[in-house]
Amino acid sequence: MRDFANKSFPKRRSGGAPGSVFVLLAAAVVLSALLLLFEGPPVGALKDRGEGGRSRPGDGAARLSAVPAGTGEPAADGAAGRGGRTAGDPPGAAASQDLAAAGFVAVPQGPHGGPGVPDLKVATFIIKRNDSIYSILSGLGVEAAEIAKITRSARRIYDLRRIKAGDELRVVKRGERVERLEYRYDELEGLYVERAGQGRFEAGSYEVPHEIGHKVVSGVVETSLYEAGVEAGAAPKAVVAMTDIFAWDVDFATDMRRGDTFRILYETVAVEGEIIRMGRVLAAELVNAGRRYTAVYYEDGKGRGGYYDTEGRSLSRTLLKSPLRYSRISSYFSRKRFHPILKKYRPHHGIDYAAPAGTPVEAAGDGKVVFAGWRKGYGYFVKIRHNGIYTTGYGHFSRIARGVKRGARVRQGQVIGYVGSTGISTGPHLHYEVVYRGRLVNPLSIRSTPKRSVSKDERARFEARRDELLARLHGAPTVVASVKGGGGEGVN
Ligand SMILES: [Zn+2]
Repeated sequence: MRDFANKSFPKRRSGGAPGSVFVLLAAAVVLSALLLLFEGPPVGALKDRGEGGRSRPGDGAARLSAVPAGTGEPAADGAAGRGGRTAGDPPGAAASQDLAAAGFVAVPQGPHGGPGVPDLKVATFIIKRNDSIYSILSGLGVEAAEIAKITRSARRIYDLRRIKAGDELRVVKRGERVERLEYRYDELEGLYVERAGQGRFEAGSYEVPHEIGHKVVSGVVETSLYEAGVEAGAAPKAVVAMTDIFAWDVDFATDMRRGDTFRILYETVAVEGEIIRMGRVLAAELVNAGRRYTAVYYEDGKGRGGYYDTEGRSLSRTLLKSPLRYSRISSYFSRKRFHPILKKYRPHHGIDYAAPAGTPVEAAGDGKVVFAGWRKGYGYFVKIRHNGIYTTGYGHFSRIARGVKRGARVRQGQVIGYVGSTGISTGPHLHYEVVYRGRLVNPLSIRSTPKRSVSKDERARFEARRDELLARLHGAPTVVASVKGGGGEGVN
């Protein structure tokens, strides 16, 4: 151990880990290395084991017994190894701890390296900001040609020239040769590169064992749905997803009332008992001003998923009810309005949404940009043609979003610009107008019809799924495994 440990790179030894700490870390690394080497591979097989598939107790356990007692506390692996990081962590912060300082560690070999017991050494790094695969591997004494071979074989799975700060990289060496390299580029997926003989390397991906769970959150709106949702313990993304689902029916900028209630059921993804991200919203319910809106997620026979009301009508329509979230209407559509700057009565053929300068504005529907630029009183203005019937316009932007120019295609919900006060305007707001069949109409009066409904022959299947989801939605709120640390639920 001494040789190799001393060979670890000085710059990685931030804070100069004292000997005892080093040994403990080393033990953790050793243990996880053994797990990695003997429990996991062929790692490619992990994929076939399916979700939540954990280790098998076979040879892994047998080999592990070779580790001298007391070297590796399983807890140490949990804390320092995979699963130690949650998505909520700032990149590279907590995770970089001292693991990177551990450098290389010799794998203990029971009764002095008998025949067939490999002389393996493992190093684990948390990538830092200026690290590259080249700097790390060459720091380990790997030759440039070898590094090139490794990155080339990896490219099909992941481009190692793009390793990200905060991610974890493991290198296993036998003597001076790299035997294996692992890079977990995602909480749920990683790359491995393995020596395959004749100087070749083979790459593949592995899936991190995880469990899909469910969570139900409900609450009462005091100020905004967003705040109420987060306060009740929902993942912020789940709350945003809910506003997306109901965007056609409820204008979250203007319609929410104190006392409105919501309920939401969504999937969670957990690794080693920790929720690392939310999955899909499966069902949601909103009672707004006494009116109940319900959505269930349903995948039809062709595998197309979408949100439907309880009657099986699709909730997605042609235009969003509002191109802004969390703002308020400061001026309504009117044929005759006293203009605050021009000081005379003029029609106001749109809706003004007051919002802080810089608030992102979304395209109300899929479409094509037919104007993007300066237009007199409108200031920076964007106009989108959605189809043969609808066109929408957005005025007074402080700035038009990059890529939004004449002829460009935009998607519904795509940010097209930012609230400002350009043109004739008294303060930051969005002027939003809708042209329906060539005529400016009141955006608030648009009641578009659902795109499609569940087909007759799928009706029974839909209803079974709906009832199942609604029963779960209305079951007792579930508490899913708590998350350690103060970061709350991991949401990225
Ligand atoms: Zn206006």
